[in-house]
Amino acid sequence: MKTGVSYFGNRILRHAAADMRQLAVDGFSYVCHTYSENDMLFYHRTMKEIAHITRDTGLEFYADPWGVGKVFGGEAFSNFIACNLDCLQILSDDKPAGQACPMNPHFRRFMVEWIEKALELEPNHIFWDEPHFSLSSWIGGREGQWGCRCNVCKGHFHDRFGHDMPVERTPEVNAYLEWAIRDFLAFVIGETKSRGGNNCLCLLPHDEGEQGAVADWEEFAKIPGLDILSTDPYFELQKKPIGHVEKYGRIVRDLAAKYGIESELWFQGFRVDSGREHLQGEAIDIGADLGVSRMAVWGVDACDHMGWIRPDDPKRLWMVMTERLRAAKSR
Ligand SMILES: [Zn+2]
Repeated sequence: MKTGVSYFGNRILRHAAADMRQLAVDGFSYVCHTYSENDMLFYHRTMKEIAHITRDTGLEFYADPWGVGKVFGGEAFSNFIACNLDCLQILSDDKPAGQACPMNPHFRRFMVEWIEKALELEPNHIFWDEPHFSLSSWIGGREGQWGCRCNVCKGHFHDRFGHDMPVERTPEVNAYLEWAIRDFLAFVIGETKSRGGNNCLCLLPHDEGEQGAVADWEEFAKIPGLDILSTDPYFELQKKPIGHVEKYGRIVRDLAAKYGIESELWFQGFRVDSGREHLQGEAIDIGADLGVSRMAVWGVDACDHMGWIRPDDPKRLWMVMTERLRAAKSR
């Protein structure tokens, strides 16, 4: 079993070097580095150096398309959407959203550019982070609306179902959106694999009936070129019982075993209220009992440095999570 942690918010090499050394001492096996559009444009050389430092410290390196096109999770903004207003998702109110459409051919060409730059960092894996169509509860989403109803999506929908795409979110719309995001992922995963890269896919663990819920995880697990099936059941954030971890941990573990790939679970090292830190330790124990291949915490130092998601007691949360991950790893 390998343990990991995400790292973001610092591009100063001497600090990154000290942090990587500490993460190795803390017992981690890998570090998921965000590689946003901002990094791609302005920090590419620096990121190559950070990648080198990470591997030199004996840690595996993930590259995460953090917020790229706002199709992926992450707090980073997207320059692509600002410069390509004709590639935006169109929501059910017929207005554009601040999010690229994964079915748009121009956005896909941009993703190939991103992949080629990310692979220059020589990552062990590309971490496909929470790919999604517009979600009304996320930044940039709009209450009661869904996407995408752009012309590309309308065309694909008509090809599949033989009639125009409705404005209401029907079961056919849900089936289309799930097929479309999978088609996009098969594209980026295939493009990565064909260039010699490895792929980790982290799907959002939305329950049935919730926006963005995956109806058939197996169809994602069998995408050619996938190496790790991952998910991030942040039960505190989603105000769900801790059983959320076991439910989705079983899904990724069993499907990974079936398709001969690795499984991964992420744990919530952010926005945890005081007095509830121990629950993250219990969640890690659940993952260890399930026997998933990889367990990771988002993010470094329990996100003490990012005020927006800083937990009440970052030091305590970080201590609980690193101790339990070490214990899980040494089982
Ligand atoms: Zn679209």
